[in-house]
Amino acid sequence: MQCPFCTNENTKVIDSRDAGDGIRRRRECLRCGLRFTTYERVQTRALQIVKRDGRREDFIREKLWASLTKACAKRPLPVGSIEKVVEDIEGQLSNVGRAEIPSRIIGEMVMDRLKNLDRVAYIRFASVYRDFRDIESFREEVDALLEPRPAEVPSNQLSFLEDETLPSPPRRRRGRRPKTPQEGPA
Ligand SMILES: [Zn+2]
Repeated sequence: MQCPFCTNENTKVIDSRDAGDGIRRRRECLRCGLRFTTYERVQTRALQIVKRDGRREDFIREKLWASLTKACAKRPLPVGSIEKVVEDIEGQLSNVGRAEIPSRIIGEMVMDRLKNLDRVAYIRFASVYRDFRDIESFREEVDALLEPRPAEVPSNQLSFLEDETLPSPPRRRRGRRPKTPQEGPA
């Protein structure tokens, strides 16, 4: 186990406890003395990801986590959002009951969830994942995203679109804003 602070390989376990679906271990680095926690979970079944070029690799939750964290960097998401997406996808994958899953499917699963979670994160992820070849296809994706679909848009995401694509709600006209002479009836 490598120390996350100094990358030394020698650590000792100072505490270990059952955490339901895994074991938490508190470790101390024998070189720098700093402590960190690791979490071991039982891998029931190795899931293989089939990449676009046909290569296969193990499904690694940390990789999924890392790509989500990157896409969601500095976005105002509720605590635990990324964990929830990862768990959701893991759960769904284990229900599929297959030993191999095309990476494309996982990419689509991530995008489905990001689309509802945070549009900026979605576009970031999509721009890497879809590997847009030109600005036109990227634009098409953004345009498709900006089409108002009220049933699918959580209210906390509306600020991203506000004032640009959505018509002003009628109540704004009843505000205290003074009417200007140019402003006719709607
Ligand atoms: Zn260390």
